[in-house]
Amino acid sequence: MKAPAFDLVVVGAGGGPDETNLSAYLVKVHNTKWEDGILALEAGSGQGALARLLRKQPNLFHSKDSVNGTSHKSHTASEIYSFVKSFLLTHAHLDHINSLVVSAGSFGGGRKRVHGLVQTLKDLELVFSDRIWPNLASWKEEDDSSKLLYSALAADENYAPIHSDVSVQAIPLNHGKNALGQYSSTAFFLRHDQSQHEFLFFGDVEPDSLTEKPQTINVWRAAASKLPDKLSSIFIECSWPSGRKDNLLFGHLTPEHLGDELATLAAEVVKHRRATERSAHDGRRRKRQKFSALIEEDLHGALDGLRVYVMHCKDMDRDDGRPAHDIIVEQCQQIVRDRRLGAEILAVVQGMHIEI
Ligand SMILES: [Zn+2]
Ligand SMILES: [Zn+2]
Repeated sequence: MKAPAFDLVVVGAGGGPDETNLSAYLVKVHNTKWEDGILALEAGSGQGALARLLRKQPNLFHSKDSVNGTSHKSHTASEIYSFVKSFLLTHAHLDHINSLVVSAGSFGGGRKRVHGLVQTLKDLELVFSDRIWPNLASWKEEDDSSKLLYSALAADENYAPIHSDVSVQAIPLNHGKNALGQYSSTAFFLRHDQSQHEFLFFGDVEPDSLTEKPQTINVWRAAASKLPDKLSSIFIECSWPSGRKDNLLFGHLTPEHLGDELATLAAEVVKHRRATERSAHDGRRRKRQKFSALIEEDLHGALDGLRVYVMHCKDMDRDDGRPAHDIIVEQCQQIVRDRRLGAEILAVVQGMHIEI
């Protein structure tokens, strides 16, 4: 296996209502130290959840491949958050911003940027309004450096630098309809600039099949040419268990819909590979040839080498006490196995340290 490009620690991975396990991921470039700078991806849970995790897992931030018995300094949760240089938010629902808001007045370690699409940052501004919470964020670089600094990302094909050696491409997603209209979230391609290795991280998302103006397809098209060498890890939500009715999804996926989305990605991958093969064989004739429609068998194994990390499972009460992510991930695995897409489906669990 190639050397990892990133380390990711899961501070919280649930989709509510447990407020101690909400979307929050701490990311660093693999060959750097945590104290060199952290990118916080979502900020639902934060220092409180991390402090509890560190009591159980004091070595959570130790690197797996450290050699020569190097002794590590263990950091407290607030020290870890003082190393955060910037936050990256998919949308401003409370389960993704809660800890950022609550901790905004007490972060150590200098100015922190908050990156997101303009709408996400404007939504966050509604909270930092001096009404719901003191205004501890600003759009102006020259403002008090104790304030968070809003830093808007464009939704285009360009990669914007957001952290030392890390750039991001942002693609808007649909996350359900409300009284104001279509509500948006974001998918991010995070790229380690030096190795060009990427991972794909989804905000909350509704199935493309249920929306008037599908947008997730744009993400799959952008991903297709990168699998599996440049892009081998996707983090995506599956909030609900199998069988939940479409009118009760509230802008989220079920295992069946996730299976459909991954099949769409597989189709894009196959189309891309066929187009590349054809252009390699015969550049001139290529333009006149139409793709024959893909059938189910064409997708078999198309996602070989891809790891799909399932997150944002909503808690449910069960007599056997099994956590929601156990049930939902098992259902996703079955569907992907039945469709023979080839991807490996994994659960994202609070307290995991994932190398990407
Ligand atoms: Zn949401
Ligand atoms: Zn959410």
